[in-house]
Amino acid sequence: MTAKLIDGKAIAAELSLTIADAVKQVTAQHGIEPGLAVVLVGDNPASEIYVRSKTAKTAATNMRSMLYKLPASASEAELLEVVERLNQDPTVHGILVQLPLPPQIDSRKVIEAISPAKDVDGFHPLTAGLLSTGLPGIVPCTPLACIMLAKKVHGSLAGMDAVVIGRSNIVGKPLAQLLLMENATVTIAHSKTRDLPGVCRRADLVFAAVGQPEMVRGDWIKPGATVIDVGINRVPGEGGKSRLVGDVAFTEAKEVAGAITPVPGGVGPMTIACLLANTLKAAAWAEGRTPARF
Ligand code: NAD
Repeated sequence: MTAKLIDGKAIAAELSLTIADAVKQVTAQHGIEPGLAVVLVGDNPASEIYVRSKTAKTAATNMRSMLYKLPASASEAELLEVVERLNQDPTVHGILVQLPLPPQIDSRKVIEAISPAKDVDGFHPLTAGLLSTGLPGIVPCTPLACIMLAKKVHGSLAGMDAVVIGRSNIVGKPLAQLLLMENATVTIAHSKTRDLPGVCRRADLVFAAVGQPEMVRGDWIKPGATVIDVGINRVPGEGGKSRLVGDVAFTEAKEVAGAITPVPGGVGPMTIACLLANTLKAAAWAEGRTPARF
């Protein structure tokens, strides 16, 4: 059996078009231009690529894209000052501080300094609290992307057995919360889980968010299951170059799964589209309007 490929790139492109139309309407009807400010500290090459992609896609959806670059030597106080300025700026509806930050800066402090109303990444503890209590708020981009991709395959996830491998605050935990809200039966697996292959084999939906290249093997997958691979790992490739792989051994898993996301081209592009959707949502809330649903 060869799995159906879940084309995150194409699904994200479709969502981005819908967002671009919605932004045009908001600008025409309410005279506001939703704006996303991205803050990059230092010159981490991977972060630079992500930020370039985010700013280009923001502009492509008719939103205002602002990039603030600080040197790797920037102090925590300098970064907090930029964040505070953006918090106060009414033309900025979303703020994203690209992680990781240099070691002299406490990421937690920076995340907590972002106004929850502009927290389009969805990492603020208040945002996490809203999500876990089922109250309206921003939903973190990557978990939201995972749910949207799984729902593209199944429509409803109600009653399905889902395994989330990874319990981070930014992916694993919020993803598990969202799956509960979709009425899936959720198992959160992690580095101390016993018999992880066995746990995975029982799942209709496998979400891998571990950060270990190709850890999830083909024989961990129940035949016909849907596999959503969040992992982005750079490994040595041919001719001294590097290549990206996920947390799932794609070549093996696609022979067993019913549907699977590739890496790259799966969760990654969809995460950026969800960031843009969150910015549009934040802009609506800032104006006291009900946001469009996607
Ligand atoms: P993290 O390091 O914060 O968390 C990893 C989790 O995996 C931990 O909870 C840990 O318990 C679990 N884990 C580690 N080793 C394990 C093992 N051997 N068996 C079972 N569980 C294990 O990572 P994160 O921030 O959640 O990111 C996870 C992956 O997703 C990374 O590869 C990251 O690059 C990727 N990511 C992708 C996107 C995207 O847009 N596609 C966004 C965020 C993160």
